[in-house]
Amino acid sequence: MACTMIFVSSIIMYLYPMEVFKKGSNVFKILSEAVSEGIIIVNTEQQIVATNSAANELFGYKGEELIGEHLDILIPKKYHNSHHKHVSGFMEQSGKRQMGHGRDLYGSRKDGSQFPLEAGLNPFSVYDQDYVMALVIDITVRKNAEKELKHWASIFNESLNEIYIFDLNSLGFIDVNKGALKNIGYTLDEIRTRTLVDITPEFNRAQFLEKINPLLENTVEKLTFNTIHRRKDGSTYPVEVHLQRSVDEDSDRLIAIILDITEQEEYTNTLERTVAQRTRQLEEALKKEKELGELKTKFLSLVSHEFKTPLSGILTSATLAGKYKEADQQQKRDKHLKTITSKVKYLNNIINDFLSIERLESGKVTYNFSHFPLSKVINEVIYDANMLLKNGQNIEYPENIDSIFIDFDEKILTLILTNLINNAIKYSSEDSIIQLSVREEKDDLLIAVRDDGIGIPENEKKYIFNRYFRAENALLNQGTGIGLNIVKTHLENLGGSITFTSTVNEGSEFTVTIPKATTQQ
Ligand code: ADP
Repeated sequence: MACTMIFVSSIIMYLYPMEVFKKGSNVFKILSEAVSEGIIIVNTEQQIVATNSAANELFGYKGEELIGEHLDILIPKKYHNSHHKHVSGFMEQSGKRQMGHGRDLYGSRKDGSQFPLEAGLNPFSVYDQDYVMALVIDITVRKNAEKELKHWASIFNESLNEIYIFDLNSLGFIDVNKGALKNIGYTLDEIRTRTLVDITPEFNRAQFLEKINPLLENTVEKLTFNTIHRRKDGSTYPVEVHLQRSVDEDSDRLIAIILDITEQEEYTNTLERTVAQRTRQLEEALKKEKELGELKTKFLSLVSHEFKTPLSGILTSATLAGKYKEADQQQKRDKHLKTITSKVKYLNNIINDFLSIERLESGKVTYNFSHFPLSKVINEVIYDANMLLKNGQNIEYPENIDSIFIDFDEKILTLILTNLINNAIKYSSEDSIIQLSVREEKDDLLIAVRDDGIGIPENEKKYIFNRYFRAENALLNQGTGIGLNIVKTHLENLGGSITFTSTVNEGSEFTVTIPKATTQQ
């Protein structure tokens, strides 16, 4: 509903101002009604002397209602002052011109509502009277369209996604939003001299056209794909591209909305890495579970074997001892009783080891610390071990250690040393010497057990502390492969450690390190 109105400011219309227009009113009427724009004529006093019906309609007046009114009636109050200045200025220059350059003009309707307008001013004189005719157009629709356009332009520009508009024929960039410029590193002028191929290292022109063929053939409305963008500085980043074609009479363009998916890719990669890691852990857990199953089977057969042999030995010795009834056969009875005692002790040790494993596994192990002389434990261990000694075997141990007191779990130390001494006895031959030595260091106490036995093969040394592991050369001897494993676990729990040196057929030395001041873990 664009209308035009004409303001005429008369300069000298002190007398009969309206009469002049009444004289030529017919001519004015015919002419003014023929135009769709609002016409308003004012004299130099800015008094309205004539309006056409388009102007009346525009401002909400009827007939001659506006005639004789001051022009201010059509201008919102807040613009009165500035408008007066403009009118005076205009009168002084008195030439044709468009009003409102660089600022918005508004009209005020009879009902008080306002609307944006555009006015062209045309001065003229009739019968020596000066007037100004204003042609006024209501630009509400245009203003709204402009506002909407501005809105879209700011959305385009401010969008954090990258938006590129480029010509389909040349693939040259036409417009690029701020987000895109910021990430790609070019200025708008720079990028306008470039083509899409300059920023997409994965495509040359032919490849790109092939990629977007479905858009060119109109078989799809939108294309989405992932590729790489190259910045001005040469660095690249992964992007997700959403491409649409926009065709009108004089242009054929592509609009690309680009999402920088660096973070998304990093996230995906991290996720993939985590999944892979978890899968590996799961596989390892399953493998361990399987190994555990196998070990359990092995363990059960081991236990039945380990118990069966000493038990049948005990049975034999008991049967034989029972046969020696004569008084002078005490020596023979003693020999069998000694065998029985040693085998029972052996079984007892195995059971202790099994119980230790169970407690370590279930986390039920608790350590009891006390202050005791080292010699007490060593004497007990040696005393028990003596029953297991083979013919001619001897244990040497230090006698001058009565002054050494330690804070440790006494039972665990007994278990550790018993295991080491029993192994030394078991894995060395008759008539050999087993040596237990003690060395005090600043913070630690070192106890070593050395034998001249079968030794441990080089390639099996690394497995020696694994549970149930038994070296190839040890298989002829009884054993479970548990002892060293629990010794090591207990020591580690208590802040100690165990190491060994060994040479096949020459012997082994196991050294236990115990912190002098153990704090309970
Ligand atoms: P086992 O009941 O088999 O003796 P351990 O855990 O005590 O179990 O020892 C594990 C393995 O370490 C033994 O089977 C043996 O191969 C090796 N081993 C331990 N101590 C000695 C030693 N003093 N001399 C030679 N080999 C030893």
